[in-house]
Amino acid sequence: MSPRHTHYDMIFLGGGCAALSLLVRLLRSGHFSSARFLVIDRDRKKTNDRTWCFWEKGDNYFESVVYRKWEHLNFFSTDFAAPLQLNGYRYKMIRAVDFYSYCLEVLEQSGQVEWVEAAVTEVSRTNNKVMLKGYVGAGAASSPIELTASTAPLASDAAFTWHLDASLVFNSIYKPATTSARQIDLLQHFKGWIIETDLDTFDPYRATLMDFRVNQQEGATFVYVMPFSKRRALVEYTLFTATLLSPAAYEQGLRDYIEKQLGIHSYKVVEEEFGIIPMTTQSFSFYKDGIFNLGTAGGQTKASSGYTFQFIQKQSARIVQQLLHEKPLQTLPGDSRRFHFYDRVLLQVLAKGYWPGDKVFARLFARNSASQIFRFLDNETSLSEELSIISSLPTWPFLKAASSVI
Ligand SMILES: Cc1cc2nc3c(=O)[nH]c(=O)nc-3n(C[C@H](O)[C@H](O)[C@H](O)COP(=O)(O)OP(=O)(O)OC[C@H]3O[C@@H](n4cnc5c(N)ncnc54)[C@H](O)[C@@H]3O)c2cc1C
Repeated sequence: MSPRHTHYDMIFLGGGCAALSLLVRLLRSGHFSSARFLVIDRDRKKTNDRTWCFWEKGDNYFESVVYRKWEHLNFFSTDFAAPLQLNGYRYKMIRAVDFYSYCLEVLEQSGQVEWVEAAVTEVSRTNNKVMLKGYVGAGAASSPIELTASTAPLASDAAFTWHLDASLVFNSIYKPATTSARQIDLLQHFKGWIIETDLDTFDPYRATLMDFRVNQQEGATFVYVMPFSKRRALVEYTLFTATLLSPAAYEQGLRDYIEKQLGIHSYKVVEEEFGIIPMTTQSFSFYKDGIFNLGTAGGQTKASSGYTFQFIQKQSARIVQQLLHEKPLQTLPGDSRRFHFYDRVLLQVLAKGYWPGDKVFARLFARNSASQIFRFLDNETSLSEELSIISSLPTWPFLKAASSVI
């Protein structure tokens, strides 16, 4: 399938969380009713390929698709365990399938968006001319697992080169790259099971943000538990390390946790999720070679935590405001360098093992309120708040890491 037209006002390469978040806002603003949009994605976005969890005060722009929210969170480790002081924050979950279907309906109803299913392998832009190469067919449509999926076409796929023109091109197709010799790369990788129990087991009002009471020999390893009802919960076994485990190792981790820590012996797995999120000091550009990069591809994944959803929302809102005020997008202020520095330091501590990850998070949550940590991880704290948070951490490992990433 090729695009029907040669001219579009905006082209989106990748139609996942970032592209849909921006496109829905643009369409609903009412200011782009004569614009024509093209989205190119290799997937149709019909499956529940992930769940997004995040914290916030107040309502989300996508509040209507929030699947569950919790006002109580626990933290566990061998050094510190306690209910967290949320001070008005709530922890929320959105299932990707609900988000996609909500957004796709807005796109459909607008009659302004054309969706082309294809894998893009190359893009270049000169003035308003856009050259795209890629392929269409079964290989392009196969659902990818980021960072490990091959983008190689199948023999039956058809290669294309399209010449289009567009006023704006947004890219959210992420490609891992080494941008400096000192780049630090970890992966946040996780396997989750939605389990159902025979007996009432969970408190549906209380979730576990992090439970580090699991084997730490691979590196920072924790489990989170998001109960949907007394008998149903998502249990996710998560690591911040450089390499993936064997599929069996995640399942063993889940089984051990469910049986030994939760004390559940009779349950069934009703859904599974596997994911990899880059935790990297790779340098990202919002604007490069005529293209605006969104989402993970635009550096919106917080390097030290992997949280992305809310950064995408904030970025989308800023882009819409900029366009509504007819200001060039290139002038949109970038992310704070100060927070990038903190991310690099924390990643270096974890990557080099200067201090164990379970102890870092235990110390952060033991000596600061969770609401302060949330604001810090959202890049929203002031310098004096940051100094107070930093002073709660041991000096030597963090100084050593800081001196090597400056
Ligand atoms: C399983 C999982 C769970 C996550 N959970 C959380 C969470 O709880 N909280 C949080 O804040 N963040 C989470 N994240 C991180 C982040 O929020 C998501 O990855 C988010 O979807 C990023 O949005 P994006 O638009 O940058 O990328 P995506 O949503 O991945 O969108 C990119 C799009 O590009 C398409 N694409 C890729 N390659 C090509 C190609 N060559 N040609 C055409 N199309 C292509 C893909 O099909 C996809 O639709 C999670 C990530 C994963 C993978």
